[in-house]
Amino acid sequence: MRKVIVIGSGCAGNTAAIYTARANLQPLVIGGHEPGGQLSLTTLVENFPGFPDGIDGPVLVEHMKQQAIRFGAEYVHGQVIDADLSGRPFRINIDGQWEEAATLIIASGASARWIGLETEQKLIGHGVSSCATCDGFFYREKKIMVVGGGDSAMEEAIFLTRFGTEVAVVHRRDEFRASKIMLDRARANPKIRWVTRTVVDEVMDVAKGVVTAVRLRNLDTGESWMRDVDGLFVAIGHIPNTKVFRGQLETDADGYIVSKGGARTSVTGVFHAGDVQDRVYRQAVTAAGAGCMAAIEAERFLEAQGH
Ligand code: NAP
Repeated sequence: MRKVIVIGSGCAGNTAAIYTARANLQPLVIGGHEPGGQLSLTTLVENFPGFPDGIDGPVLVEHMKQQAIRFGAEYVHGQVIDADLSGRPFRINIDGQWEEAATLIIASGASARWIGLETEQKLIGHGVSSCATCDGFFYREKKIMVVGGGDSAMEEAIFLTRFGTEVAVVHRRDEFRASKIMLDRARANPKIRWVTRTVVDEVMDVAKGVVTAVRLRNLDTGESWMRDVDGLFVAIGHIPNTKVFRGQLETDADGYIVSKGGARTSVTGVFHAGDVQDRVYRQAVTAAGAGCMAAIEAERFLEAQGH
């Protein structure tokens, strides 16, 4: 039986691994379906403290992993396909293989929901982004487009007006899911243009390896046209990676883990870290902080249990 299994290898999981490894708990870290988490999908990260010239997201997250390995963390590729939290030890099924652990740190993150276009996927990190806070700065004096009609889309659009010459919000309906206050704020912003009843069909230019334009389509008329754009921010929601824990652990209506204070979940001995619980801040540095909190709580829990 393991003392700690950390599920997820993004900022939260890697930081939990560093702390639990340094506490001599030899954590097993499960990479997950997006090893390295959201950072592995970004390019330059300029807001993680300690790197005055910025650092590439994939490099940052790999450094964290190597730091954890140095102290004895063990990483496995694979995904959690099943879990049994009904009693201790907890049981976790990694691609068909069951592992047992006295504590669990769930740092499986929330995946950005993408439109699902092949051209969009190929240009992630090269003009296509799911995080305005992370990447907005790169689009100074550039043309920006935001897809979505919820609070995230409004928040990102408003934030991005600090950088872009214009920000076009493309939304598939006339009505917006966003709260009135956010929508009013966005509507009052003169830099924001509205393109409703419209979807993105294609992102250009895969051959050049950078976003130059998108092909849009009006859902009423079927009319299709090109619009020049340098940065495409997809803000159509996130999906917390908690499917295997449904019904065993308290989650909210959208599947995010409900925190019971600190890093505690509704199941004693199971801790949360990062975006799997946090739908508000979603930053590398807050996820890392949450990973640290979960590790300290796991360590104290194990100590109290006499492990
Ligand atoms: P959301 O409220 O679920 O909105 C997602 C938006 O994306 C909707 O407008 C939806 O369109 C659109 N969409 C979904 N799938 C799409 C697709 N395949 N193609 C095109 N458009 C698509 O998600 P969110 O904006 O990320 O917000 C999530 C939660 O966090 C909400 O509870 C929100 O209030 C909260 N939040 C709050 C703040 C704040 O208060 N400052 C900021 C951010 C988020 P339809 O409307 O047509 O379905």
